[in-house]
Amino acid sequence: MSAKVGKTIISIVRGDITEEDTDAIVNAANSKLAGGGGVDGAIHRAGGPAIMEECRKIGGCPAGEAVVTSGGNLKARHIIHTVGPIYRDGRHGERELLANAYRNSLKRALENGIKSIAFPSISTGAYGYPIREASRIALQTVMGFAEEHEGITTIRFVLFSDRDLGIYRETLANLRNINRKC
Ligand code: ADP
Repeated sequence: MSAKVGKTIISIVRGDITEEDTDAIVNAANSKLAGGGGVDGAIHRAGGPAIMEECRKIGGCPAGEAVVTSGGNLKARHIIHTVGPIYRDGRHGERELLANAYRNSLKRALENGIKSIAFPSISTGAYGYPIREASRIALQTVMGFAEEHEGITTIRFVLFSDRDLGIYRETLANLRNINRKC
């Protein structure tokens, strides 16, 4: 399933993000860039130790920000490490931090000449962000960015489970309908 916004195709697929052949994949990292479980662990396992070397040199990344390393052994040439918010109750700036994580990842992509990028569902695993709301923030933010910036041709959301895929699809369908009515 996909939507075209400006010159950017935004699509939603099911899969393992470590196998994506986009110019960059995004890692849902922690603020120490220290590796961990979930998608972070999968990316470091598949990409090899050179990525952690680069992360150590960078030192860390606050929530909402994003940094770039090489892709190590992955097909993707770059990894954009971003840090989503840990969800508490929705009243601690989580929405803005999550939107910033997507926005700053796309900014890093533009700065590095990256034309295609794959995102996981940031913060909706160990960090506990309710996925329906997170999917709305994710899609609205990237659609808004694509409206305002040219240069990225493909933005792909790679969901790890059928359930997550279904939720992102529903959200994209709703957002497309809202946009048509405007
Ligand atoms: P966070 O700490 O930001 O919540 P997690 O890695 O715990 O990050 O989870 C984020 C999402 O990434 C979850 O929906 C999880 O199912 C998904 N995920 C885990 N491994 C992969 C993978 N290899 N490819 C794509 N998504 C993955």
